[in-house]
Amino acid sequence: MVRSGENGGSLPFYGRVSSIAIDPIEKKPLFHYRPGQVILSVGFVGCNLRCPFCQNWQISQTTDAAFSVVSPEELVAKAGELGMKQIAYTYSEPLVHAEYLINCMTLARSRGIANVLVTNGCVNEDAAAEIITLADAANIDLKCFSPYNYKNILGGSLPAVKDFIKAAAANIHTEVTTLIVPDFNDSAGEIDSCIDFIASVSNEIPWHISAYHPAYKLKSPPTNAETVLDIKRRAGQKLLYCYTGNIWNDENNTVCLNCGSVLIRRNGYAVKTPGLAQKSENDGKYCCRQCGTALPVRY
Ligand code: SF4
Repeated sequence: MVRSGENGGSLPFYGRVSSIAIDPIEKKPLFHYRPGQVILSVGFVGCNLRCPFCQNWQISQTTDAAFSVVSPEELVAKAGELGMKQIAYTYSEPLVHAEYLINCMTLARSRGIANVLVTNGCVNEDAAAEIITLADAANIDLKCFSPYNYKNILGGSLPAVKDFIKAAAANIHTEVTTLIVPDFNDSAGEIDSCIDFIASVSNEIPWHISAYHPAYKLKSPPTNAETVLDIKRRAGQKLLYCYTGNIWNDENNTVCLNCGSVLIRRNGYAVKTPGLAQKSENDGKYCCRQCGTALPVRY
């Protein structure tokens, strides 16, 4: 159980926010949750992992980064003023600020604002369960499938991440992201293990396959686009919705699995939903406008 005091009590980093921005929801990335909408994104300092390729290392690997103190009330009020329908807890690792998150998420939910977690999923089972009850959607990193590398290179735990993904997928809208890092997680065996695991949870989970670019301690050349596209093709045999990240191409549309119509067209962060229709008024379910085949997308 996470202790959620009114104002963080004596927690030294409670409410220390490193950045607040309005992002396209696709940037989280979430492709099947409120596509085309924007989201108020709040980030913090610190992380419980030490990925050598961290793209946000200036805030994740230090506690000295610049910050403003923002109370949960102020954050949620800001979201309301800006007309935001959702808040993302993101950029570094939000779950290391679980007490603050719980207070923000409780308040946001009471005002009809959805909560989105963008997380590495390395958290114990009890805390995960509590946070998930307050969340509406999550994007969770699956960084590799080697327990040894998770522990010794990243400082995390593969079993904890797998449990988090399973718990999230059972309760809230869930998408998974894997950054493809050459010579770290790109062997065919490891990629197939990632694919098989996600498929075993649900083949409807969108999987974001992203290209690594040199950052923080890792200086090796970026992942080439063809590798990412190859993995996407392989994953497509077992997962229904696979997308690429950090490479620009025209393959990030969501198409109807039955008739091939483009349901959601993505050009960078510009999103249109030409083929998407609501199944029936207010039932919250969506389908292909052409043939009526269901699409697991949530608004
Ligand atoms: S989990 Fe994310 S924020 Fe933390 S070190 Fe790894 S890449 Fe950086």
